[in-house]
Amino acid sequence: FWEQKLSWSDLKKNSDGLVPAVVQDAATDEVLMLAYMNETSFQKTVESGRMTYFSRSRQSLWLKGETSGHFQYVKSLTADCDFDTLLAKVHQVGAACHTGARSCFFNEVVKKDDRNTNPNKVFEEVYQVILDRKLHPREGSYTNYLFDKGIDKILKKVGEEATEIVIAAKNPDPEEIIYEISDFLYHVMVLMAEKGVTWEEITRELANR
Ligand code: AMP
Ligand code: ZN
Ligand code: ZN
Ligand code: ZN
Repeated sequence: FWEQKLSWSDLKKNSDGLVPAVVQDAATDEVLMLAYMNETSFQKTVESGRMTYFSRSRQSLWLKGETSGHFQYVKSLTADCDFDTLLAKVHQVGAACHTGARSCFFNEVVKKDDRNTNPNKVFEEVYQVILDRKLHPREGSYTNYLFDKGIDKILKKVGEEATEIVIAAKNPDPEEIIYEISDFLYHVMVLMAEKGVTWEEITRELANR
């Protein structure tokens, strides 16, 4: 039911005559599992549109979902640059993992600090926290202190922080200016929240210039 551009003979097999397949959720790009194919399972997969593997532990053909009902419907099957690995994008029914987890990959080995520093995301998140403080004041919140004091206090702080950037810029320590610009941007965001200006409006204006 689809054009097949590569066949089993085009693939490079490992020492067991198998080809590993990385399985990815076609809708979310989540990596779901890795399993192996032999020639029969490859042919079955292409013919049926359901991921079929060769189970190394059972040494037999394995239609994924045959007992669990968690079938994988093939959206695409692609070989990598040197034809020794397959990538399957699938519609996953239920969970890919036999443990019931959506993805098999949950046993963390190492992880780098994954704080998202995408500027868009950080600005939007900080702004949303500031708006939330305005709506739901918190005891001891500096943001609420500023809102309570009112617009003149906020404007005074914006002016002060701008001056502190100027002073920091004369300091050879690069940490200083990062700190002061961050301070300034926070206070600008408090002003934005007070005046009802959104990041969308600011970025649209900048993009239009
Ligand atoms: P299923 O194909 O989902 O009906 O599962 C049948 C059997 O295959 C399970 O009992 C497991 O032994 C094995 N199995 C299922 N999913 C996985 C997986 N993602 N990784 C490794 N083994 C699996
Ligand atoms: Zn490559
Ligand atoms: Zn490869
Ligand atoms: Zn698993």
